[in-house]
Amino acid sequence: MKVIAVSGGVISGLGKGITTSSLGRLLKARGFAVTIVKIDPYLNVDAGTMNPYQHGEVFVLDDGTEADLDLGNYERFLGQSLSGTHNLTTGKIYRSVIEKERRGDYLGNTVQIIPHVTGEIKRAIRDVAQAAGAEVVLVEVGGTVGDIESMPFLEALRELSYELGEGHMAFVHTTLVPVVGPVGEAKTKPTQHSVRELRAIGIRPNIIIARGPAPLEPEIKAKISLFCDVAPEAVISVPDQRVIYEVPLVLEAQGVGPLLARLLGLPDRAPDHAAWKEFLQRYRREEGAGVDIAVVGKYTELRDAYLSHTEAFHHCQGHLGSEVRLHWFDSEDIPKNPGLVARLERAHGLLVPGGFGTRGVEGKIRAIEIARRRGIPFLGVCYGFQMAAVEAARHLVGLPQANSTEVDPATPDPVVGLLEQQRGVNDLGGTMRLGSQRIGLTAGSKVAGLYGRTEIWERHRHRYEINPAYFDRLAGAGFAVTGVSPDGRVEVLERADHPFFVGVQFHPEFLSRPEAPHPLYLALVRAALARAEVADRVGPSTAVA
Ligand code: GLN
Repeated sequence: MKVIAVSGGVISGLGKGITTSSLGRLLKARGFAVTIVKIDPYLNVDAGTMNPYQHGEVFVLDDGTEADLDLGNYERFLGQSLSGTHNLTTGKIYRSVIEKERRGDYLGNTVQIIPHVTGEIKRAIRDVAQAAGAEVVLVEVGGTVGDIESMPFLEALRELSYELGEGHMAFVHTTLVPVVGPVGEAKTKPTQHSVRELRAIGIRPNIIIARGPAPLEPEIKAKISLFCDVAPEAVISVPDQRVIYEVPLVLEAQGVGPLLARLLGLPDRAPDHAAWKEFLQRYRREEGAGVDIAVVGKYTELRDAYLSHTEAFHHCQGHLGSEVRLHWFDSEDIPKNPGLVARLERAHGLLVPGGFGTRGVEGKIRAIEIARRRGIPFLGVCYGFQMAAVEAARHLVGLPQANSTEVDPATPDPVVGLLEQQRGVNDLGGTMRLGSQRIGLTAGSKVAGLYGRTEIWERHRHRYEINPAYFDRLAGAGFAVTGVSPDGRVEVLERADHPFFVGVQFHPEFLSRPEAPHPLYLALVRAALARAEVADRVGPSTAVA
């Protein structure tokens, strides 16, 4: 087993997840079997109950694990689906240590962080590598070196490198090199301090990834090399990129691929980045005027809350070669602000993503109504799909008080209600209808055409569903149910009288990949492009923002 540990220094939010994903990509492009593990040093067992404002989007895996959003980056960069064992948290590790203690597995011993907790961490990493059949496992340690909570994980990795022996493990440290002052001087001191911190716990980095706004000058690289005791060719500059998919090539251009192979004692193979480069070339092309897509949600101040949606649109841009511009609308503001409504009306497409709770739902319903009436291409995901049903019930069926019982438990018309299996569920962690589920699509429907098949698997995360008692009335209002689960739940609604109006109970955003954009996002963007073309012929700029 070969291991690459990726730590972070100075501050969080440096793009350590992208760095780790990109390193994985370099090895995968060389034909090595690669996998990635994310360590989140918080006490939560998983990310499922966390507000998106804390750590961004909750990413759902096939097996239903509610994971850190970096798992999404790993899947997209590697083009591989991962399972819940790839996301370790302090909560998970401690839970299993405590379970073992209760069973009597440590009988007679005092259970301690070293060796029991560190032992559990090492076991978890080895198990993942083995189950995945990986030649190389990358381990990203969340947080910043020096945090109390990440100490046991770094200690476990130090022990692991000792156990694996020389030439089997590489430490990559990601730091910030800020640029300050009137002449824009790059400062290495924070990097020096964080490397010192790492060395104090017995870890000597082999590679330093220096993040910053611009490429590092050779003398700054030399200085970091000297002060941090890292080979000059192992100080790598990764300046901010327009799109994250550039990063593997930025690393490749500085020789990181051969360097990793050498550090890990792997054969130095030539990489194959052909498909990746084609994607980036098309992405940069930006032919024509592009499209303006409105995204209406309630966490719009933090873009990471909708990361997978944003990435799915990047994948469309890299596939179609047209610029896809996203415009974020806070759903709470829409009912109060006529100016926003006017801007929404000029969008070429609308996405209403998933969500929870009552805040902002009326704005989502309003946005969906605009898209339905004006023929604006619309994709509704999970809550966005449920609200499309509520909107139709209110305005087409004539049930003005229709709602989801999540929003109004006393509504006379619960068009969306709690899943039967959810009644009596009190724990909130890991108890939704989660993960990959099979869906049958109606032959000849729009969605079946887009997928090119009638059986699909998509990832889920919900407690509520369309109430079967309203099926007939929704059908009468122009909705066709074109996707159902084997147990009869509505998974897809589409309208025939509209250029593109599709709602899905599942989360297509989790399965979109740069090399395989999701068919529903592609269809939305294609329909939006068609609308933009007409709009351009009709009048001048249709820009939303
Ligand atoms: N709140 C809704 C439900 O639980 C939708 C969930 C979602 O959008 N992920 O069913």
